[in-house]
Amino acid sequence: MIPVVMPTYARSDLAFERGEGAYLFTMDGRRFLDFASGVAVNALGHCHPRLVKALAGQAAKVWHTSNLYRVPGQESVAAKLVGQSFADTVFFCNSGAEALECCIKMARRYHFAAGNPQRTRIICAEGAFHGRTLATVAAGGQKKHLEGFAPAVDGFDHVPFGNLNALRAAITEESAAILVEPVQGEGGIVPGDPDYLRRLRATADEFGLLLIFDEVQTGMGRTGTLFAHEQAGIAPDIMGLAKGLGGGFPVGACLATAKAASGMVPGTHGSTFGGNPLAMAVADEVMTIMAEPGFLDHVRAVAQKLRTGVEEAASRFPDVIEEVRGLGLMLGFKPRMPNTDMVARLAANGLLSVGAGDNMVRLLPPLIINDAQVDEAVGILARTFGEVK
Ligand SMILES: *Cc1c(COP(=O)(O)O)cnc(C)c1O
Repeated sequence: MIPVVMPTYARSDLAFERGEGAYLFTMDGRRFLDFASGVAVNALGHCHPRLVKALAGQAAKVWHTSNLYRVPGQESVAAKLVGQSFADTVFFCNSGAEALECCIKMARRYHFAAGNPQRTRIICAEGAFHGRTLATVAAGGQKKHLEGFAPAVDGFDHVPFGNLNALRAAITEESAAILVEPVQGEGGIVPGDPDYLRRLRATADEFGLLLIFDEVQTGMGRTGTLFAHEQAGIAPDIMGLAKGLGGGFPVGACLATAKAASGMVPGTHGSTFGGNPLAMAVADEVMTIMAEPGFLDHVRAVAQKLRTGVEEAASRFPDVIEEVRGLGLMLGFKPRMPNTDMVARLAANGLLSVGAGDNMVRLLPPLIINDAQVDEAVGILARTFGEVK
C-alpha cells in the first residue's frame, strides 16, 4: 500500500516536536544539534524570538491579499534586497525552483524584448541543482532527476563546472545566459573558484549574455557574505534566492538589474502566493537581523572555527574521512563509507547533517551557532569518526 504521504523522499524516522535556536527536540524528548537547518533554510535557528514576533504580529493583521494590490511588505523587503545587492528590482515567489523559473523566463524575455528572440538557450553546469520543476530539472541536467519525465524542457546546454574553455566553446548565436551556483550545493559542496566566477562575468559581457547566479543555497549569509558572489568581487545580472530568506517560512525571490528585467512588463509573470504578507513579515525581519553590525562577522568567525575543528577531526581519521571542503557555513566532508550511513551515525550521536552528491556530508548549521555549539558538533564528529574506525 502506498503511504498517505507520497513516498518521494527516503525519510529518516525522526519526527520533531519543537525547535529552539540550534536544537531540535523529538516527540519522545531527545535533543539534536541541528547542522542540517532544514537544508540551509533555518538560517537564524528555530523559533528565533524576533521571527516568531514578526510572524505572529502579521498573522493577527492580514494573511493574504494577492498581487492584484500593493503589498507593503514586498515593497519593504524588495527595498532592503536592492539596497544590499547589485539588483534594481525583485520578483517574489514561494520556493527556490520558482525563483529559478523566473530567472530563466527573464533571461529569455530580455533577449526577446531586445529583438533577439532566437537567443533562448542557457548554458548550465554539470552537477548543478536548480529545483524539481520541469524547467529546473532540465537546467540541473541530472539524469536521476530527469529519468521518466521526458520530454525534457529544451534550451539548456551543460558544460563541466569550473571549465571556462568548455563554456566558451558552448556559446552559440542562440545562447541567452549563463547559469551557475557560486558553490554547488546538492552537487556536493563544490566551490566555484573566484577567478572562474570573474571570468564568467567577463565572458557574459563579451558575448552579450546574461549572468545568472543561483544563490538559493549560498545566499543569505550562508558563505560569510550576504551573497556568495560578493567574495569574487563581481555581480550577476539575475539572482535566485529562497532557503534562508524566510528563515523557515516558504519564500523565494528573483533579483535583477533594470536592464535584465526590461522585458518583465505587466502580464509576463505571476504567482498567487508570491510575496504573501506573512512571508514578507518574516523575510523583512531576517533582512533586518542580517544587516545588523557584527552579524556576518560572527558567521565568518564561527565558520572558521568549525572548519578548523572539522579539518582537525578529519586529519585524525584519514582512513574514515577523505576530504573537507566548502565556504563559510556551507561545509562538507567526504567519508570513505556511504554518506547515508555517516549521516545516520551522526544523527544517532545527536548531530543532524545532510547528504549531497559526490558522497559528501553537508554541515549547514544555523548562522547563529556559538563557539560552544561548534565544539559540541566537532566533538560528535570526532567521536563518530572514532566509532567508525
Ligand atoms: C534547494 C535549491 C533549489 C530549489 O529550491 P526549492 O525551494 O526546493 O524549490 C534551487 N537551487 C539551489 C542551488 C538549491 O540549493
